[in-house]
Amino acid sequence: MLIPHDTRIALDTVVDLVNTAPESEPPEDGPTDGLVDGPEDGLADLPALYAFAERHHISGVGTLGEKDLEAVRAVRSRFAEVFAAPDARSAADLVNRLVAAAGTTPQLTDHDGYDWHVHYFAPDASLSDHLAADCGMALAFIIVAGEQERLRRCEAPDCGRAFVDLSRNRSRRYCSSRTCGNRLHVAAYRARRREAGS
Ligand SMILES: [Zn+2]
Ligand SMILES: [Zn+2]
Repeated sequence: MLIPHDTRIALDTVVDLVNTAPESEPPEDGPTDGLVDGPEDGLADLPALYAFAERHHISGVGTLGEKDLEAVRAVRSRFAEVFAAPDARSAADLVNRLVAAAGTTPQLTDHDGYDWHVHYFAPDASLSDHLAADCGMALAFIIVAGEQERLRRCEAPDCGRAFVDLSRNRSRRYCSSRTCGNRLHVAAYRARRREAGS
C-alpha cells in the first residue's frame, strides 16, 4: 500500500495520541479483574500537551489551556474507538463524526520545503480540531484503501497499544517487534525448552 508521506506522519501522530491514554485496553478474552494501575496519562497536564504537539511538529499551536487538554483527551477517546472498531463501516461512521465536528478546510500547501500535500484542519483550528481533522483524514485514507483491518491493537497480553500494520502481508501482531514481539518470542522459546526438557 502506497501511503503519502503526510498521511504517514498523521498516522504516527494518531497512534502516539491513542497510546498516551492511561489505561491500555485489556486483551479481549483476558482477565478483567485484578488489573494493576496502568501507566500514567501521557497527556496528564499542559506541559505534556505542549510536548506532544512539539514531538509531532504540529504547527500554529499557539497558547494552550486546560480546555485544549480536555478537548484533546476527548478526541483521543474517539480515535481509540476507531482502532477498536470491528469493521470498516463502524470505523467510517466514527471518522465521519470526528471530522465533521472539527470543521475542516482542505488546503493545498508546500510549506517548509515539503512537497505539495493537503492540510485538512481549518487555518485557526484549535489543537484538538487540528488533530481530529488531519488524523481523521489519514484514517479515512486507510479505510478508503480497504485496509481498515490494519488499524490494530497489540496482541501481547498486557499491552494493547494501538498501531497501524504497514507490513506487506498485514501480518504484524505486536506494537513493536523490538519489545512486545521479542518478549513473546523469548517466552515461547523458554516454554518450548521447558517442554523439551521434561
Ligand atoms: Zn503540512
Ligand atoms: Zn505491545
